[in-house]
Amino acid sequence: MKKHFLSLTMALFTAAALTACSGSTGKQAEQTSKAGAETSRAEAAAETKTEASKVYKIATDTTFAPFEFENDKGEMVGIDLDILKAIAADQGFEYELVIAGFSAAVTGLEAGEYDGVIAGMSITEEREAKYDFSVPYYNSGVGMAVVADSDITSYADLNGKTVAAKIGTEGCSFAESIAGEYGFTINQFEDSSSMYQDVLAGVSAACFEDYPVLGYEISRGTALKLPLDMERGSSYGFAVLKGQNAELVKMFDTGLTNIKENGTYDEILNTYIAK
Ligand code: GLN
Repeated sequence: MKKHFLSLTMALFTAAALTACSGSTGKQAEQTSKAGAETSRAEAAAETKTEASKVYKIATDTTFAPFEFENDKGEMVGIDLDILKAIAADQGFEYELVIAGFSAAVTGLEAGEYDGVIAGMSITEEREAKYDFSVPYYNSGVGMAVVADSDITSYADLNGKTVAAKIGTEGCSFAESIAGEYGFTINQFEDSSSMYQDVLAGVSAACFEDYPVLGYEISRGTALKLPLDMERGSSYGFAVLKGQNAELVKMFDTGLTNIKENGTYDEILNTYIAK
């Protein structure tokens, strides 16, 4: 409970400090360098190794179930993390995972702190100008969630209200693209759980997040519902900075083909998503 309160307070601070979905703050940088400090010993060890045994630093989100999230035992699990692990084993590369948060992962990738990002990251035209993506590994899109007993059934019902979105995400840019037309304002959060809390607390009337992620959250008992269909279909890809770590993307693509062929990919999906 205390943790939730804290993240809500932090999120409100962030919301106040930001105006655009792609905004970058000092706080983000701080969060990134904190994640960096925690892993600096491993990084130092990695630096003493030769290029052949490079340990790739791969950043992910904090709360994006079923793709990456903390389970009841306090372990980070999820489809993205299992796919990465299986591909690394198949291709024989080493990596160190950094639980950075979505915008911090992307900011860190741009700053050269991370070699890659796996975080349910949508492959979009805009992003393809800055990053090299693997082949798509999961089809997704944006959805709107409201509290389970809400009367909101359309975007028009958001008029004069506030909605929640996560900084730097497709959900946030979708919300921004329709905010003027439907007359709502956007409260921005660093992580999905703070966003859900804001809606559950009745502060935000709705939140915009990836549809399968909202669906999973609801299936786990969070009192939200999805009154509308999925918007903006997009696929998730593993990203590196444009022109860098080309061999890593190549290994990801080859490994993905292999784990699809040998049944591991389906096994991973079945672990998290009930058919
Ligand atoms: N798929 C969304 C995006 O790429 C959200 C990713 C996330 O929040 N981890 O923007």
